[in-house]
Amino acid sequence: MSESRAERLAAAARERQLDLLIVSDLVNVRWLTGFTGSNGLAILGTANDGSAGIFLTDFRYVSQVAEQVSPLWDRRQATQELLGPALAEHFPDWGGPSLPRVGFDDASVTVSGLERIRAAIGDRAELVPAGGLVEDLREIKEPQEISRIREAAHLADAALTEVLDRGLAGRTEAQVALDLEVAIRRHGAEAVSFQPIVASGAHGALPHAEPRASVIEPGTLVTIDWGAKLEGYCSDCTRTFAAGGEPGAEERRIYDLVLEAQETSLAAVRPGPTGREVDAVARDIIDAAGHADHFGHGLGHGVGLEIHEGPRLSRLGERALQAGMIVTVEPGVYVPGIGGVRIEDLVAVTQDGADVLNTLPKALQVVD
Ligand code: ZN
Ligand code: ZN
Repeated sequence: MSESRAERLAAAARERQLDLLIVSDLVNVRWLTGFTGSNGLAILGTANDGSAGIFLTDFRYVSQVAEQVSPLWDRRQATQELLGPALAEHFPDWGGPSLPRVGFDDASVTVSGLERIRAAIGDRAELVPAGGLVEDLREIKEPQEISRIREAAHLADAALTEVLDRGLAGRTEAQVALDLEVAIRRHGAEAVSFQPIVASGAHGALPHAEPRASVIEPGTLVTIDWGAKLEGYCSDCTRTFAAGGEPGAEERRIYDLVLEAQETSLAAVRPGPTGREVDAVARDIIDAAGHADHFGHGLGHGVGLEIHEGPRLSRLGERALQAGMIVTVEPGVYVPGIGGVRIEDLVAVTQDGADVLNTLPKALQVVD
């Protein structure tokens, strides 16, 4: 990727006839500028004049900005309320006959935030809702972003492997979840990418179950969904295990069904099909087995600086997959009263298929 992120975003903003773009969501600010602090605001210029625009922060982050944010940005220290008085003070003078068209992120700016923007520059700018511009670009990862996510996935795998060595049956879901969280940190992650899910037996029928204080019984299935965060980037993976012995015949059938749906839909991941089309590959298999009502979520989602981002692999997934996207493939079947199975891989879309970033096997594994 030869063009900088600022250049690519400026090109996308120009397509919408924007003169300036206010980027205020901190994840978007991080992606655009590298700034990892808690108070930063970018005013991106869309003119091809070699400069990126103006970057505002408050006094706490001035030295951090000097380290993290390229000097192509005009880096300024401002008052703490960046969307309000700071914007009023640092908004560029705009010559010319008409007001500049200024995009703002209507997906993340709150109603009160918009009021502050209006109060600050409403008489000097035509404000244009422009949410999603940064998010669309974030969906296509650069090689070094893919490397970081792969590293996070490997780290998460190593942490789970260590936890499984200590066994599942006889411990509580909450104990296993805490053990896993600590292991993820000890293996070098800056954080978990979300609170791990550990759901056993009938509790596994809740896709986003909170770990409970109840003991994992031998002969039950345990679904574990976990991820690590490394240098801002998330991983996400799910495996379902048999705790303390072989599961019942019905659980086994569900497992085999989900595995077939997972592997078949994973094989459909490549540039070209929409998220909806890939979702349908798994959904058709699960529907045909009579479990249409038991797969109540989308097949997958994008992963990056956020654990859930675009594109969607679901009935709502209109965007075609492209090389560089990172998505999960995670069908699940949840049968009330019996339990659930979910199997999730994290994959990078390549020129001709998909590169699985995590490493743990998918055949049903019995864990003590
Ligand atoms: Zn997950
Ligand atoms: Zn997921």
